[in-house]
Amino acid sequence: MRNVALALLIGISLISCKHKSTRKNNAAIHVDNGILIENTTVISTNNNGIVEKFIGFILTDNDKIVYSGVDKPELKGNYKIINGTGKFTIPGLIDSHVHLSSIAGMNYKHVRDLPELVDSYFEQLPNSYLYFGYTTLIDPNNYNPKIINQIKDKDIAPDIYTCGEQVKIMNDFMMAEDDPKDRYKFYPNFLHDQYNDNVILPDTININNHSVKKIVSDIVNKQDGICMKTIYEDGFGGTEDMVWELPSLNIMKDLVQQAKSEGIPILLHANSFAAQKFGSEANVDIIAHGMWHWGLLKDYLDISNLPETHKELLSTIAKKNIGYQPTFRVIAGQRDVFNSNFIEDSNLEDVLPSNLLNWLKSEEGLWQKKRILTYGGDHFNPETPDSKIASMMQSILDKITITTNHLYIEKGNLLFGSDTPAMNNHANPPGYNGYMEMKEWVKAGVSLEDLLRSVTINNAKEFNLDDFVGSIETGKKANLILLDQNPLEKVDAYNKISKVILQGNIYDRQFFSAKNQ
Ligand SMILES: [Zn+2]
Repeated sequence: MRNVALALLIGISLISCKHKSTRKNNAAIHVDNGILIENTTVISTNNNGIVEKFIGFILTDNDKIVYSGVDKPELKGNYKIINGTGKFTIPGLIDSHVHLSSIAGMNYKHVRDLPELVDSYFEQLPNSYLYFGYTTLIDPNNYNPKIINQIKDKDIAPDIYTCGEQVKIMNDFMMAEDDPKDRYKFYPNFLHDQYNDNVILPDTININNHSVKKIVSDIVNKQDGICMKTIYEDGFGGTEDMVWELPSLNIMKDLVQQAKSEGIPILLHANSFAAQKFGSEANVDIIAHGMWHWGLLKDYLDISNLPETHKELLSTIAKKNIGYQPTFRVIAGQRDVFNSNFIEDSNLEDVLPSNLLNWLKSEEGLWQKKRILTYGGDHFNPETPDSKIASMMQSILDKITITTNHLYIEKGNLLFGSDTPAMNNHANPPGYNGYMEMKEWVKAGVSLEDLLRSVTINNAKEFNLDDFVGSIETGKKANLILLDQNPLEKVDAYNKISKVILQGNIYDRQFFSAKNQ
């Protein structure tokens, strides 16, 4: 009897609370498990495109934001208070390009041989993203659903979404390393490009299982993908002896059309002028990567004037509002491999477990450097001084800065994605890599307001998550970051996090540090 009465009471209070919270002025809001952040500077780029900045109050209840405004709300129920005086509260950050199943600092052989390091890496992984304020992550290539699900199932982890498994178009770059005879076995979900006469399928293959319709539908319905990704890779150092097929423009247009009818955005891996031109012609939704190949490296390495053809293309990409992820750190990370001080950067201790960090300082841990040295071609070899290789990498990085700046001036649709941990590079560590990526954006001339927009609401909108995340607005998830510094004044503010509120739970930043593992 008592229980029934109690349930009835709760029922009534829920109803009245819902009613009251929609009223303005002084009506009390009832919360069950709330957080009230008092006197904080609220900074949010909202769904309507307007940047809000005011000193006021934010109220959450369970995992939702229920109030944000200048006036202190009148409250009833259970809630904690955070004194936000002198603090800046922003929405949780969104990184729309991370590879959660890949390890920063270990290749496949190491993963097999060093299971202890693997375990501590994945144990720390979600915490490292949270340590730097990333509460929503999108993995564009879910090639290992088991690992992704393990991370998702942790009690404390960012919200994780994927684009399903990256779409491999028959005989493309991703499939090139395997013997043509075995490819059908290793890549059961390949897409058949019927417009390419070089691709001939054996009779044993049922073409219907490899159609655009089937592949895109599987991503949405079987793999829970909220997006899809494919690639146009026209080669880089080390791929000179490889042979692969590029997707045809027609198959890409078909994919774009199908993605549209399923309501998901399509990302195209494209880092060269030719690849981005292709992506623009096919009208893909998002170009993944900045344009670091302006043409052949030997022709363009020392050129810093953006050619007219390239300007024109970037202006078109901007005009079409195609999303654009510059991913500076793919190149900056390779540069940092040749900076011996990088491994001593104290930020690494917060995002990489100490056993992995110690191993990376060992002879075996220097594998990334040896690997890069093998693909120097005419540009460098193992005898070349590190500083020279680093400065060459810097001039490639400058290409991204110049092209991103042009796109930005043309009001392009920049989306924040770090591609962590590109090339399994320890210099692209989870969380911290995103912060370093932000610094590159600022160097490319992006304003701090637009950076915040790109790392919150723009990502949310592009991936259809803006009903839940991306701004501080009533009804959205209670994912909030409290900073000690104003992120509209200094990019360093993103490394001055005091608290992270994740799904309505409060954590001190230090809780997420790898030093606590
Ligand atoms: Zn990537």
